[in-house]
Amino acid sequence: MALYFVFLGKQGSGKSTYMKGIAASGRLARISSGELFRDEIRHNTELGKKIEKLVNSGKLVPDKLVVNLLKKRLEHSDCSRGAIFDGFPRTIGQARALEKILEKKGGKINLALNFAAPEKVLLERLIGRRQCMLCGKIYNLKSNPPRVEGKCDECGAGLYHREDDKPEAIKKRWKAYDKRTKPLVEYYKKKGILHTIDASKEIDKVMKDVGKKLKNLGLN
Ligand SMILES: [Zn+2]
Repeated sequence: MALYFVFLGKQGSGKSTYMKGIAASGRLARISSGELFRDEIRHNTELGKKIEKLVNSGKLVPDKLVVNLLKKRLEHSDCSRGAIFDGFPRTIGQARALEKILEKKGGKINLALNFAAPEKVLLERLIGRRQCMLCGKIYNLKSNPPRVEGKCDECGAGLYHREDDKPEAIKKRWKAYDKRTKPLVEYYKKKGILHTIDASKEIDKVMKDVGKKLKNLGLN
């Protein structure tokens, strides 16, 4: 039986990092709505043109469109063991739509992992984040600094502080998260499939917590 997971957590909770690790070790597909959008844009499809227009004008991509993309994506063979959803669902409406898609495939959301940490911890993490301009590698001035200040260990290029990692931008995104996505925590709790992870701990410890939970579900 295929397993499907939803990951919830604010920007800075590190959920993307965990998702990649878990998807690889469990041989599950990681489906990111952002990547699906970028693929369509890159291939210059009709849908891609529509999405690009919306994104460029700062508008949200409508649920119906996202759902159709997901439906198509779930048909790929790499989803045979299941999938982890990244950046989706973001609203209760999207969560319900996802359930319908999975139901048709004889599946359901088996687990919603909520990566929670105090905002202070998350902010500290994000403010110290630096990314390589060339290869995209991410550093943290506090927990994972480059060997030479301001230079990438891998390729030697300069590091920069992304606009969306600056406090004003972060707080804006958190506000949107609280408004649109946080209700999902309650939603999945009511369904009895929510598991909250303390994301303020070290990566290794968080990974262990997640691993335990997944083992209980029969995934190793
Ligand atoms: Zn680099």
